[in-house]
Amino acid sequence: MFAAASGGIPLDKYHTFGLAVRTQALILPAREDEVPEAAQKAAYILGEGSNILPLGDLPPVLSTRYLRGYAVLEATSDLVRVEVAAGENWDGWVRFCITQGWYGLENLAAIPGSVGAAVVQNIGAYGVEVAPWVESIYGWNKRLQAWQRLPAEACSLGYRSSVFQMPAWQDQFVITRVVLRLKRRYEPVLTYPDVVRRKHPRLLYDPLYLYETIRAIRAEKLPAEGSAGSFFKNPILKEPELADLQKKAPDIPFHPLPDGRYKVPAAWLIDKAGLKGYRLGGAQVHPRQPLVLVNLGNATPQDLWALAQHVQKTVAERWGIHLEPEVRVLAPVPTLEP
Ligand SMILES: Cc1cc2nc3c(=O)[nH]c(=O)nc-3n(C[C@H](O)[C@H](O)[C@H](O)COP(=O)(O)OP(=O)(O)OC[C@H]3O[C@@H](n4cnc5c(N)ncnc54)[C@H](O)[C@@H]3O)c2cc1C
Repeated sequence: MFAAASGGIPLDKYHTFGLAVRTQALILPAREDEVPEAAQKAAYILGEGSNILPLGDLPPVLSTRYLRGYAVLEATSDLVRVEVAAGENWDGWVRFCITQGWYGLENLAAIPGSVGAAVVQNIGAYGVEVAPWVESIYGWNKRLQAWQRLPAEACSLGYRSSVFQMPAWQDQFVITRVVLRLKRRYEPVLTYPDVVRRKHPRLLYDPLYLYETIRAIRAEKLPAEGSAGSFFKNPILKEPELADLQKKAPDIPFHPLPDGRYKVPAAWLIDKAGLKGYRLGGAQVHPRQPLVLVNLGNATPQDLWALAQHVQKTVAERWGIHLEPEVRVLAPVPTLEP
C-alpha cells in the first residue's frame, strides 16, 4: 500500500499531463479499511490524475484507484440503486451499467478518471451531468476521524463543482464509495449538436450504440494523452455582464441557465483572442480545441502554468472575462534530490 523511496516516486504514469514530477510517497490502499491510516500520511488525495496539474514534486499522495467493486442495494422494474467503489474506472463503469440494463450515464462515456472523482467536480458532457444520478457518498473524514455518509443534497453539486473542492473538505474527505440511482428504462438524451448530427435511428433504442457514438465523437476531438481535458470552466455571466461582453463580441454564443444567468463558451473566448495553437516552451493551446492545454512531450509544470496564466491574462484583456481553471493546480514541495 505504501511506496516511498529516497529521491521520490515518479508520478508521470499517475496523471494525464505526463509531467516528469515525483512524490515523496505514493499510498495506494486496496481495501477500504486501509484508508484511515493512508489518509493520515497523505497531503493530497487523487483518483487517476486526469484533472490535476502538479506544479512540481509533490508531498505524499494517496490514490484511491485500487478501491474496486460494487453492490446492488435495490432493484425494481423502474430503478436500480447501486453502490460503487471510488476507484472503479469511470468509463468502464458506464459501459458495465449499460450491459446490466442500468441507464442514465451513457452520455458520460469515455470521460477519463475514477468514479470517486466524478462526483468531486460533478462531471458533465453532451447535455448530461452525474449529479442527478448520485444518491449519497461515503468516505473517511480525516478531521473527524470517522466514516461518514453524505446525502447528495449535502454535497453542493453544481457546474463542475462540489463541497469536496472547498478548503474544509479538499484532501480531508476520502471518498470511498458512491451510491447511484439509475433507471431501468433507456431514455436517451440526444439534444447535443454533435449527437443530433449523427441522426442514426439506432440511437433511439440501442444504449450501447449511444455509448460507442459518444466515444467516437470524443476520440475525434480530444488528444488521448498529455492533457487534463478542458483547462478552464465556461464562464457563467449575469445579464448585464453578458450585455457588456456582447458590445465587444456581438456574435458570442450563449446558453441561458434556469437561474437567469448565461453560460458562454471559454473555447470561443480563447479562440477569438487568437490563442489557438499558441506555444510556450513544451506546452501548447490545442490547435483544434482551444480549451485544452497540452504537454507536447517535454513540457515542464512551469511551461503549462505560464501558458494557463497567459491565456487568462489575454482573455481578461481582450474580453474583460476572468477564466477560472477547471483543472486542480497542486502546490509542490521543494524539489526532491535525484
Ligand atoms: C482527455 C480528457 C477529457 C476530459 N473530459 C471531461 C469531460 O468531458 N467532462 C468533465 O467533467 N471532465 C472531463 N475531464 C476531466 C476529468 O476526466 C474528470 O475531472 C475526472 O472526474 C477526474 O477523475 P480522476 O480520477 O482522474 O481525478 P483526479 O484528477 O485524480 O482528481 C481530481 C480531483 O478530485 C479529487 N479526488 C479524486 N479522487 C478522490 C477521492 N476518492 N476522494 C476525494 N477526493 C478525490 C482530487 O483531490 C482532485 O481535486 C477530462 C479529462 C481529460 C484528460
